[in-house]
Amino acid sequence: MPVHSPAPSPAEVQRADAAAALVRVQFQAMQRAQAELCATLAMVDSEGLGWAHGFGRVSSWLKELTHVSDYQAAALLRRAAAFHPHPDGSNVVPALAPLTATAAAAGELSDANMDAVIEMLGQIPAGHHDTAEPHLLDMARQGDAAQVRAAGQRILDLLSPDGPEPDDKPLRDPERSCLLKKKRNGDWRLEADVDSMSGEFMDSVIEALSKRRTGDDGPDTRSPAQRRGDALVDVFGMAMNSPELPTQAGERVHVTVILPFETLRTQMGKATLNLEEQISAWEARLWACDSTVIPCCLRENGEVLDVGRAKRLITPGQRRALYLRDRGCCFPGCDRPPRNCQGHHIMGWDQGGPTNLANLALLCEHHHRVVHRAGWDIKLAPDGIPEFLPPAFIDPLRKPRRNNMHPPIAS
Ligand SMILES: [Zn+2]
Ligand SMILES: [Zn+2]
Repeated sequence: MPVHSPAPSPAEVQRADAAAALVRVQFQAMQRAQAELCATLAMVDSEGLGWAHGFGRVSSWLKELTHVSDYQAAALLRRAAAFHPHPDGSNVVPALAPLTATAAAAGELSDANMDAVIEMLGQIPAGHHDTAEPHLLDMARQGDAAQVRAAGQRILDLLSPDGPEPDDKPLRDPERSCLLKKKRNGDWRLEADVDSMSGEFMDSVIEALSKRRTGDDGPDTRSPAQRRGDALVDVFGMAMNSPELPTQAGERVHVTVILPFETLRTQMGKATLNLEEQISAWEARLWACDSTVIPCCLRENGEVLDVGRAKRLITPGQRRALYLRDRGCCFPGCDRPPRNCQGHHIMGWDQGGPTNLANLALLCEHHHRVVHRAGWDIKLAPDGIPEFLPPAFIDPLRKPRRNNMHPPIAS
């Protein structure tokens, strides 16, 4: 295989265009020939010609002639039967998909799309075929088989909003599996299989959490996949924050940051998250804003010399008060509710900032990072509400802004 440079040359693009045109013409010719073959097979079937050669079934006759597989013979005969009228006793059964047959004869459809139209028409009551087939055919001309089936399913849903009668099969346990693996670079990979009902609600939760962010720090430029990835992490953040406030304070009990005094003092070096993960001093300070912190002394070789007392920075009571005061991420323009938020020390606790309400602000994960990256400063206004001073490139005057996105808590 030739090695490609990132950008193809105009000559390469031209050759690819020519090849694509050729493939399109050849594919159409192949599909047209197949449609003619189906017409012949329908004729052989309706006139019982296989019998003259000693074959009871047309499929056996076809396999003898062409050595196609059982699967291929069945597919060709299924298309032949759906596209052409055929006798049933003294009656003639009309074609199931006459419009699709015309499109197939013109070489316009792939095998998979023909089969999807036939499959869906087979499920739609005969009285609705005249209206359903044009829709399915439209989709078969422009989309793939999954889209044709989805269009068919929408028609079925319209015809029978309550779905098919429930069956009486005994309830079985759902089959689920999950693989969470750490990669060499320290990132993680998550793979999971879940049953249809769990998949539906997971999809709706992720969907709800992957809306574009709001906030005065600029537009959200994440791709849909990135937003869904962030939403997945938010789900776990919410689990860590539960049970939800304001009635009961959630504790972020599961995160412990082990921070060498040296890292604390110089703001350089490494720290350890949950006894195993090495994180940078920068990340350590982000995590340490709202976790249990264990300061320690390390020898040159990293051996622990002395361990300080584990310190839980924000108490449940303080968290409850923080939730009530800020009612969500307090970054200007952000609409994230408390369950997506973390506590932040306005003046870093490692710089002597106290852990009291006057030095705390509630921030969503994203805005917590924004604030730690500097540029935005926070101060508490005289009425006790956090205000944000934007960086000079956003507002040269750095006029304080506050968040008015969260509704007041009902009393
Ligand atoms: Zn913070
Ligand atoms: Zn936010």
